[in-house]
Amino acid sequence: MMKSIIAASLIIGLFLVACAQPKSNNNTASVKKKMTPKAVNVNLENAEEATFGAGCFWCIEAVFEELRGVISVESGYSGGFTKNPTYKDICTKKTGHVEVGRIVYDPDIISFETLLEVFWTTHNPTTKDRQGADVGPQYRSVIYYHNDTQKEIAEESMKTVATELWDDPIVTEISPLINYYPAEDYHQDYYALNPNYGYCTAVINPKMEKFRKRFADKLKGAEPDQSSALPPILDEGEYNELNDKESYVIRQKGTERAFSGAYHDNKKEGIYICRQCNQPLFTSEDKFDSGTGWPSFDDIYEAGAVDELRDADGRRTEIVCGNCNGHLGHVFRGERMTDKSTRHCVNSASLDFVPMVQ
Ligand SMILES: [Zn+2]
Repeated sequence: MMKSIIAASLIIGLFLVACAQPKSNNNTASVKKKMTPKAVNVNLENAEEATFGAGCFWCIEAVFEELRGVISVESGYSGGFTKNPTYKDICTKKTGHVEVGRIVYDPDIISFETLLEVFWTTHNPTTKDRQGADVGPQYRSVIYYHNDTQKEIAEESMKTVATELWDDPIVTEISPLINYYPAEDYHQDYYALNPNYGYCTAVINPKMEKFRKRFADKLKGAEPDQSSALPPILDEGEYNELNDKESYVIRQKGTERAFSGAYHDNKKEGIYICRQCNQPLFTSEDKFDSGTGWPSFDDIYEAGAVDELRDADGRRTEIVCGNCNGHLGHVFRGERMTDKSTRHCVNSASLDFVPMVQ
């Protein structure tokens, strides 16, 4: 069995894994404002599943469990014909099964496309029935789709993403999920529970290092890079078209009715930008529930994002977009109504919302 191989074959395995790295990706954009997601807010009703074979299932589980939006990964066997196979059965290479990771994920946080990108990057889809030193049909590269949409996305991703990453022809199989069986309990969370085991230190650790570097902004607890999702900031003459309500609020300094706007109750993670010019103004991290019926933020996106203007009567302080001077609302300080000492009280009509990069 490959998982109890002797030191010499571990070295060969390492060599093979090291040779099997896809082309590097130097696409690193800068992050404007720190935006650390809170504990992953998972909507279980929305959860979807993805099942991949990519060599040893300990590796698959270790990789995918670190991604933000992934709820759980179960090691299992799929695609064969033997009922209730054991690990020992699988190792005979005669059951037709593949070692797979069955991933439960929140599609609002991570897309199937992103899971596929990770899949193509973290194993070698060009070697038939083999991953490094692990050889046999149980290690073949396979995407077991759960529905037709996944099938289409997988086929497209194989043609585009995978062929861009790898020079040799892709041998990955794309098949419907059939005959899935969870693996024995001792295979679950194997890497997390046995990080010092020989196979883990020799084969999985180097793989995890490269994976964490390449997908740094997609890991649990990491800072996602939002900048690429933001539309360009517009100058005068190019402003977004406004409807009557937006124009009344932004240009005539009007106020929308409390609880009537689109964002007072929005709890999604992302960035609030100016409706008129796309200037980033606030993030979901700054937002809190003030109970007023207007979106409320205790901080701004970055210095200069918002300008403050004292009302003529000196009683209130108006806030306007730092780029286009469009009216946003007012800022209040030292209030006792909430535990926040600063409240930027903003009209939803002045805002657009850009959800966190998936
Ligand atoms: Zn603006």
